[in-house]
Amino acid sequence: MSAQSVPRLQQHRNLHSNDEPITAAEPPAVEPSAVEPSAVEPPAAESQHDAASGPIPGPKWDTFKEAYDLPPATPSSQYEFGKDVVIHGFLGKRRDKGFSLSFCDVQTPSHTIQIVSTWQEEGSPEQIAHESLKAVPSYSPVWVQGTLEKNERSVSELAHPAASSKSLDLRLRSIRCLNPFPKDIIVSKDAVWPLKQRHLQLRFDPVLRQRLRVRNRIMGAMRHLLQGWKFQEVETPLLFKSTPEGAREFLVPTRRRGFAYALPQSPQQYKQILMAGGLPNYFQFAKCFRDEDHRADRQPEFTQLDLEMSFATGAGVRDLVQRLMGKVFNALRAEFAPVEINGIHHPVFKRREVSKSHESNSEALGEESATEESRAQTSPPSYPRVPSVYPEFSYDAAMTAFGTDKPDLRITSRNVSNITRIDSFLPRSFIQMITDLEEPIVEAVKFRLRNGTSPSHSARFIREFMDALPNTPLKLTPGSTPGVFVIDPSKPVQGLSALGHEAAGRLAEMSTRYWQQCAKGDIIIIHARKNEPFRGGSTDLGRLRTAIHTSAVEKGLIPKRHVFKPVWIRDFPLFTPEDNNDKNDSKGNVWDDPGQGGAAGFSSTHHPFTAPLGPEDLDLLQTDPLRAKADHYDLVINGVEVGGGSRRIHVAEVQEYVLRDVLHMSDAGVAQFAHLLEALRAGCPPHAGFAFGFDRLLTVLCDVPSVKDVIAFPKNNKGEDPLVGSPNKTTPEQQKTYHLFLTEKE
Ligand code: ASP
Repeated sequence: MSAQSVPRLQQHRNLHSNDEPITAAEPPAVEPSAVEPSAVEPPAAESQHDAASGPIPGPKWDTFKEAYDLPPATPSSQYEFGKDVVIHGFLGKRRDKGFSLSFCDVQTPSHTIQIVSTWQEEGSPEQIAHESLKAVPSYSPVWVQGTLEKNERSVSELAHPAASSKSLDLRLRSIRCLNPFPKDIIVSKDAVWPLKQRHLQLRFDPVLRQRLRVRNRIMGAMRHLLQGWKFQEVETPLLFKSTPEGAREFLVPTRRRGFAYALPQSPQQYKQILMAGGLPNYFQFAKCFRDEDHRADRQPEFTQLDLEMSFATGAGVRDLVQRLMGKVFNALRAEFAPVEINGIHHPVFKRREVSKSHESNSEALGEESATEESRAQTSPPSYPRVPSVYPEFSYDAAMTAFGTDKPDLRITSRNVSNITRIDSFLPRSFIQMITDLEEPIVEAVKFRLRNGTSPSHSARFIREFMDALPNTPLKLTPGSTPGVFVIDPSKPVQGLSALGHEAAGRLAEMSTRYWQQCAKGDIIIIHARKNEPFRGGSTDLGRLRTAIHTSAVEKGLIPKRHVFKPVWIRDFPLFTPEDNNDKNDSKGNVWDDPGQGGAAGFSSTHHPFTAPLGPEDLDLLQTDPLRAKADHYDLVINGVEVGGGSRRIHVAEVQEYVLRDVLHMSDAGVAQFAHLLEALRAGCPPHAGFAFGFDRLLTVLCDVPSVKDVIAFPKNNKGEDPLVGSPNKTTPEQQKTYHLFLTEKE
């Protein structure tokens, strides 16, 4: 960068900030109540000079120059008490204890070190260093020289939680500011910065940094394990081509008129070609791109841990994934401790394990490894153990019991029943009150709130929930309205009179493994649905069940369970009708994938390369494809789909039949897959695979609601990165070069 461009950049940044205040409403990363306004003051005078007048070698120019000659930092492995060292790091807030004594933390890449600055003689080097320290703005990067001392003070003596008894002291000899932190950025405790200031969020949010650390450790552990199990990481191209695989793609225009690459929605086709190429076990941390509806908590670019195994079945892949997850949970348990902040269990790096296994050199000298929150905890709790074998539900069983293909098994029948069919004993008159449907299926779900919740309290809770429903993303299918009841012994028929005496009695007495007999204050929701096979991700009652549970947990009416509950959902329908208006997840998020664009009126539920579950399902391709089940499985943890996979069709003839004769894709559409058909034809072995949505997996491990919380530079809900300003407008020159918006004649 030329010297001239520096002032211009600075001026631009300030103008930019003033245009859009940095307190703008972005979803908070940690906790909304923690938001405190951060302000931007007018641009500093020093940044106001005219860029055209050329470089002005001011004080910052000198700072930059001086840094070339400063001695390098002492490696932390050479730290010894009583030794003179040089440290580099970020200066914290200075604490002046009178005229000639100040403390200040420096956060080095590996330690928190407390500078102790004191002097006795006017004009002494200590006094000069003390004045220099006072001149450096807090949060600036600094070069510091001094003598290491043991810090024996207790937290209360220092009145500063960051200075634990294990931190180090540095008796100050000399300090240089490497780049002053500007006055116009006001840092307040727990500030939540908009995405445009993501660098500041990263800098001042230790919890976010911890999550990125978890991400890094889990990524490293998974890579290490897979390599140990003889999986080979292969990078596949990002400049791929457009194929009707299922999701909406991003195109990358080229200088060749009319030609574009497409970014891969996943490395699916390449990984299958690798199997045809004879690589037995593949994996890759892969960037994937889908131009999806931004209403849901999704990112247009995201990371998968993608894997594929030749000569494998779905069961073999599930076994492998389960073993891998077992190690992930163990790694989390070994290296991190859950620290509760505002109801969320944030993983915080544990000191001891690290110093033992990886960085033993720094052990004696109190390596910095924890945030303030973790220091405050004397003995942090551990993550719970997770059973090594996960329950499996077929798609139909999960939809029947939970009304969702992403069940949260932390929801137990102690508080929330499974969905239970009750139309066999309901009077027709009641059914007609809640639905227009002919011969519907009528189901119920029951909630038991915290012990001692009175019927009136339950009634208030559920009324508020139902009243707020129209303003939430949870949309119910028109034509049916949920019937809501609260068991109240002071009312006629315990509050169930609308059902009629007989049905009310049967419901009140009903008791099964997943439905406890009714008790005072229980809430019952009764809802009708069409009597037809399940399709899509959830039923109305399933979404209500999840949402009411979430709301009760938020209000403290049902305890939050800090456990990991993985479950396999398998045997999905191979195809989903395109008129299905229920492409939503259990939270009510709706999206709209284009599918394969065939004329069959349905598209592949997973992707068109998924194998039918068994020989009878293969036969159904010819007779009734919508009844065919797939060897397709999802891994769901705590109600979040963290990954999915399938056994593949490895025979070209079958694959082509699915594309052409089942999905009714056009010749042109099928031709887009010619490369894959060719690879399968060349004696491709049977194979199966899986992909973790790595960001989603991290949200579960870190107990956070959004993938944005575990991504360093996430896009906002409009698919933009406000930090860098992407996507940006194309220039007329670019439009010309890449033939954008130009008609044939131009
Ligand atoms: N490629 C699939 C996906 O992105 C995963 C798989 O089937 O392996 O969902």
